[in-house]
Amino acid sequence: MGTLYEDIVGYGGEVFGEEHMETLRECVQCGKCTGSCPSGRNTALRTRKLFQMALVDLREEIFNSPELWFCSTCYTCYERCPKGVKTTDIIRTIRNLAAKEGHMSVPHRMIGVYVMKTGHAVPIGPDQMKLREAVGLESQPPTTQKYKEQLEQVQTIFRTTGYDAMIDFDWDAMNLKGMEKKGGKKK
Ligand code: SF4
Ligand code: SF4
Repeated sequence: MGTLYEDIVGYGGEVFGEEHMETLRECVQCGKCTGSCPSGRNTALRTRKLFQMALVDLREEIFNSPELWFCSTCYTCYERCPKGVKTTDIIRTIRNLAAKEGHMSVPHRMIGVYVMKTGHAVPIGPDQMKLREAVGLESQPPTTQKYKEQLEQVQTIFRTTGYDAMIDFDWDAMNLKGMEKKGGKKK
């Protein structure tokens, strides 16, 4: 394990290329990213501060920051940064590093639970089903939510990649470990 910057360049570089990730070093702390951030208007997310923390190697602090998970990956800051810092991809990489070390936020882990149980990050609920029917569609699209037998393939991907362990998934409860059982297909 190197510095956080080295890990961002090394790990993110495998996906985006090292030059892409090295743009982090170009940050001049102008704050345009923070000023552009739709999420930051309503949350404690301060994009500029995240990059400052990353550059001074505050690894544990950034991994334990709830704000790290408030980014909606809208790419507004990415488009507006005057220094060409690949902001959103850097945030995504920091999240991946944090997740590998067991710091994924509960709401993000719950998205994994929904995918595990329905195949959808945002399952289709009764209200959406009524809306679909109102415009002449079947209540459910032809996805794993309708064809539950296909869910096994989704769950196999999660098992094979170790994503279930990463989010601390309880296969008996079909929920995060320690969470109340809320139905779903048992394995
Ligand atoms: S807009 Fe770009 S240069 Fe300015 S603080 Fe944000 S990342 Fe750094
Ligand atoms: S990509 Fe994330 S940090 Fe950047 S503006 Fe959008 S929500 Fe804010």
